[in-house]
Amino acid sequence: SLSLVWLRRDLRLHDNAALYHALKSGRPVLPIFIFDRKILDALDDRCDRRVEFLVQEIDRLRDELAQLGSTLVVRYGTPVDIWKELITQYTIADVFTNHDYEGYAKERDKAIGDLLAEHSIGFHTSKDQTLFERDEVLSGKKTPYTVFTPYSRNWREKLTDFYLKAYPTEKYVGQYWKTQPLPAPTLKEMGFLPVGDPFPPRTVSRVLLDNYKKTRDIPALPHSTSELSIHLRFGTVSVRDLARQAKEADDQTFLNELCWRDFYFQVLDHFPHVEKNSFRREYDQIEWRNNEAEFDKWCRGETGYPIVDAGMRQLNTIGWMHNRVRMITASFLCKHLLIDWRWGEAYFGKKLRDYDLSANNGGWQWAAGSGTDAAPYFRVFNPTLQAGKFDAKGVYIRHWVPEVDKPTYPKPMVEHTMARQRAVDTYRKALKKV
Ligand code: FAD
Repeated sequence: SLSLVWLRRDLRLHDNAALYHALKSGRPVLPIFIFDRKILDALDDRCDRRVEFLVQEIDRLRDELAQLGSTLVVRYGTPVDIWKELITQYTIADVFTNHDYEGYAKERDKAIGDLLAEHSIGFHTSKDQTLFERDEVLSGKKTPYTVFTPYSRNWREKLTDFYLKAYPTEKYVGQYWKTQPLPAPTLKEMGFLPVGDPFPPRTVSRVLLDNYKKTRDIPALPHSTSELSIHLRFGTVSVRDLARQAKEADDQTFLNELCWRDFYFQVLDHFPHVEKNSFRREYDQIEWRNNEAEFDKWCRGETGYPIVDAGMRQLNTIGWMHNRVRMITASFLCKHLLIDWRWGEAYFGKKLRDYDLSANNGGWQWAAGSGTDAAPYFRVFNPTLQAGKFDAKGVYIRHWVPEVDKPTYPKPMVEHTMARQRAVDTYRKALKKV
């Protein structure tokens, strides 16, 4: 009988908790990956960077496993149907997988766990994609943190070398089930086309870590942030490896970003209502204007605010946007245009190659003021001042909006002072209602 490892957001053989536990089970190990039709069918665009990345990384894993005389079983369908098939095809003793904190994933895993139990197959799950999860970092009152700063203090104190140790999967390479490579569905067979842009490398350089604090807020500087978000999203790098490197370089700023990532995972896990609703319920009373024509201008990067337009065009063109500009564009949509943060969240969700529900939702609720670490509602980013501060010479803006100095470039779609006051009044009215 076999131990199966179900890979999802942990596409690597190195330092993978579930894989390690499977390899230690003493039985032959067979890794599997399921392209979930429910998720793929819901994607609007047939050129989707995430799907392309998955196919590329699945191929890489299959090659790595072929070198070890084994393979990766790759299926396309709904997880429950696929597991029903797998149970009849293989003699499975145990299934190992890593935790996922999204509502859909938690329900899916519960259903699969129940199905496996009916067949007396063990289902073992581990922490892998976070440094700390669930109840590992709690406040003095044993409740989940809802504010980042005290969470991060506690998180940092707890982050001893023990938590950064890699799972030494390399020691057990003889445990993989020996089999010929099996076929896998191609991008085309699943109805997708490649975008064709290369993905960023999976390494973080010491130069970046040494300069990150100084350069991370300057969107014009190429590679001033790690661009590892897609790799963290799909687990093609290990977060433990990255945190260890940051600690060795004493890069507290980079560690802090990994802490934000953990923080938003635990917010989603403990407060699943944030997926659909404001973390602070009273913010669901806001009377959004939700003007569709204005939303379209924001999506296309034609607001007449150069920094907003540059960000949206960067997103539309390469499927990634610099963090500072994500904050500015999101704030502009929620506050200047009074468009429901969920619209912006969904648009980013379609376009971002690093789309991750927890960080995206956290970022949007932060911008809307409705989230955990909300800035006071009357603090409204001034996009012109932000551009002056973070893109003083306009290098980033000119790169993405080359016509910015020409008469054809649109005038600002809303005047800042009016829009600011309108946002403050609308928010105040909503918050008074409760
Ligand atoms: P780096 O600056 O090199 O940071 C290293 C890693 O830390 C990132 O790859 C990411 O995994 C993590 N990280 C950094 N900042 C944050 C943060 N604020 N919250 C959570 N994790 C963080 N990040 C996503 O991974 N997916 C998203 O869908 C996403 N949506 C966002 C939406 C909004 C409105 C905002 C304001 C931020 C969002 N972020 C999201 C966070 C952040 O912008 C990206 O993680 C970052 O820009 C990715 O680039 P990088 O890998 O070069 O980051």
